[in-house]
Amino acid sequence: MARATAPAPERPSDRRAAGSPAPWNAEKVRADFPILTREIRGRPLVYLDNAATAQKPRTVIDSISRYYETFNANVHRGVHRLSEEATDEYERVRGLAAGFFSVSPREMVFTAGTTAGLNLVAQSYGAAALRPGDEIVVSEMEHHSNLVPWHLLAERTGASIRAIPVTDAGALDLGEYERLLTPRTRIVAVTHASNVLGSVNPINAIAQMAHEVGAVVVVDGAQAAPHLRVDLRASDVDFYVCSAHKLYGPTGIGILFGKRALLEAMPPWQGGGGMIAEVHVDRSTYAMPPERFEAGTPPIAEVVGLGATLDYLLKWNWDSLVAYEQNLAAEALQQLAEVPGVRVLGADADRVSVISFVLDGIHPHDVGTILDTHGIAVRAGHHCCQPLMRKFGVSATVRASFGAYNVSREIETLIAGLHEARRVFGS
Ligand code: PMP
Repeated sequence: MARATAPAPERPSDRRAAGSPAPWNAEKVRADFPILTREIRGRPLVYLDNAATAQKPRTVIDSISRYYETFNANVHRGVHRLSEEATDEYERVRGLAAGFFSVSPREMVFTAGTTAGLNLVAQSYGAAALRPGDEIVVSEMEHHSNLVPWHLLAERTGASIRAIPVTDAGALDLGEYERLLTPRTRIVAVTHASNVLGSVNPINAIAQMAHEVGAVVVVDGAQAAPHLRVDLRASDVDFYVCSAHKLYGPTGIGILFGKRALLEAMPPWQGGGGMIAEVHVDRSTYAMPPERFEAGTPPIAEVVGLGATLDYLLKWNWDSLVAYEQNLAAEALQQLAEVPGVRVLGADADRVSVISFVLDGIHPHDVGTILDTHGIAVRAGHHCCQPLMRKFGVSATVRASFGAYNVSREIETLIAGLHEARRVFGS
């Protein structure tokens, strides 16, 4: 089939407005996050584990207490005042989330997080659409959350899985992707940004190529949403999922965007209260999306917390933030390159501010433990990306991930900690 050669990757900087944005004021943002005043082992906390979960601003923490103290009630079913207030807030947050990603509220489903959203798409859309012999395309850089649901689906339907390789530079091999696409490809599931390498994938180009063979595209936005301004109206992806907790919001809540026509054609995944049109003892009919996919009492307090998060994030100048984090990542990469024995995985990738590295002769867990004695929180391990670890020939890495409140001096503390690790382990 004739297809254009793969378009050039979309760089994070492509999403910035023309001209220089006003500088990002990380010190001012820091003051909004109470936990950042903590000391760990007598040293100021240096929190570089944002890719695992971000810290929460005071306004989000307070919003959850305010909900329980003043308008706690179940949503959608009550005629009383508190229930109306809780319902109004729940639906206001849906509207906010839709606005944040530039989509319609009818296309915005609340889930428990990225993992839940991916499983929902696999078990609802996937189970209905796939037949034996159909193909699902994933990539070598996927988090286990964007692999295992497709494995379960393949086992259930007789479909098979193919994987887009990752280059040594840490990018998806789009030429190989083009070769993997066939008329049997039904689903392409890729991450927007890697939680290990930080690399940003060209989701628009990936979607365009998938659509040419009639496949739908599911994008894992867990690591992109905190670092990029994600405008889904400007993109043509079919499903997009992310978790609030990586976006400075509460745990237990995430969003699934699905194109309206797709959601409307999908069967429910879980049954229960709130997702029905009419129920008889032997059969039911179902509500329209998004309610069709929100069975049972939803995580109301978490949605309220997400609302406070989005109110807060919508005040940010995202062009400034993106530029700031890009500089922070560049500075960290430059300083890491000067530490003897450090190897950054996918060092040349177009990336968000997530960096994985290994230190020659020292196990990443030992590096993490030494850094902890300096008050530095990083993550060490396989980061739920075993296929990617295999690809790079390592069993684990150290990952430093930066957010809106991180500052240059924290990079210096990280580098000093790495020199200390080398001294302790004599490497
Ligand atoms: N995908 C990616 C890329 C991630 O980084 C994570 C979280 N580490 C997930 C999926 C899963 O997110 P959650 O645990 O919030 O469901």
